[in-house]
Amino acid sequence: MTSAILLQDLDLLLGESFELVKSTDILIESGKIQAVGSEHDQVRSNTTRIDCKNLLAIPGFINGHTHVGDSVAMDLKIGGGLEELVHPVSGAKRRILNKTSRSKLIDGMKSSISDMITCGTTTFVDFREGGLIGVELLKEALGPNPPIRAIILGRPILETDIEEEQAENTIRPHLSRDSLEELDQLLDICDGLGVSGPNEFTSTSLNQLSTLAQRRKKLIGAHAAEASSSVEFSYEHFAESEVKRAITQLRPNFLVHLTNASHDDIDMAIRDKIPVICCPRANAILGLGFPPVSDLVRGGSLVSLGTDNVMLNSPDILREMDFASKMIRAVAKNPSEIDSLEILKMVTINPSKILGLQDQVGSIDEGKNADLVLLDMTKNNVANTLDVIGTLVHRVRQDNVASVYSNGNLVKGMFKRT
Ligand SMILES: [Zn+2]
Repeated sequence: MTSAILLQDLDLLLGESFELVKSTDILIESGKIQAVGSEHDQVRSNTTRIDCKNLLAIPGFINGHTHVGDSVAMDLKIGGGLEELVHPVSGAKRRILNKTSRSKLIDGMKSSISDMITCGTTTFVDFREGGLIGVELLKEALGPNPPIRAIILGRPILETDIEEEQAENTIRPHLSRDSLEELDQLLDICDGLGVSGPNEFTSTSLNQLSTLAQRRKKLIGAHAAEASSSVEFSYEHFAESEVKRAITQLRPNFLVHLTNASHDDIDMAIRDKIPVICCPRANAILGLGFPPVSDLVRGGSLVSLGTDNVMLNSPDILREMDFASKMIRAVAKNPSEIDSLEILKMVTINPSKILGLQDQVGSIDEGKNADLVLLDMTKNNVANTLDVIGTLVHRVRQDNVASVYSNGNLVKGMFKRT
């Protein structure tokens, strides 16, 4: 058994209410939060004690949506549009990834993983392209003892069997037996399916994907209504909205974006309790609009935030919270449109519930995994705060992140033992 650690004399945001508790301790044992509080019945003589005075402990962030596989294409073409850059067949991203060596792809992913940890992320949900090989590349980048929890959603599109000249028509009539066998193998090594978009599939094939994921008890997520062009394509080819097809045919655990969804689509996601992962900064750099975060929250949806493609946007959840919070207020022309706490939940407890990991991560509670971020709240940029959660959402930077624990292992920072 690994030795226990006692983080002493810190402030923390406790439980799902994120209540500020001052000058208390956290006991970590076997990778779990064993106890929170200043009573030390369970502390043994060989427990490592660490002085954490002036630090604020928060749960590790969960980045709800990434594509770390395109880290090597960082800022490939700022000013380019969605189709031009990330179309799964004809996009510039695919061309650059096809030309890049395996080792460079892995090094790029490692850089983004380290960057996420530096910014306080302890779990990320990646839409991994490239079928089995793509998942294996990310696993190699993560290494045998990953310093971060990766929820890997493999891509059901077997891109290699579509030629570039067919790019205009990529709708699959049904998934062949070979495709289904490959997807079955894919699900052996990852956490579920990350569907690029319902527009690439007929209703039959969407149903096939859904049935497969449910049979294997795996997650299924899909991009939907990111751009107005994909919304129009859906009406043109399927006479139904993209969001409606995604919800009724794919029956996903969550959808990503909904940036250009209609009011009816948003109402349907709310009514059917489909959580939504919004990516405001990635949508903004592509000029696609701002996601309907406020409407979804008001309707009672479980909303999370993601940073999306590394080629478009930094995988920094601190920046994402700040941008989202301010833009929600700006778009609504209402400074009280959303609470800072609601934004914090979008990168902690909400995604843990979306992923079915609420018993393990997403808040500081006894029995959960010790995924913790310790913030130095004495620095000039935050020292004079009158509202800790407001400051966390709008001002905390990566240089405030003193230490990060993942499953009780220190993955960033150093500590003096007392
Ligand atoms: Zn995406």
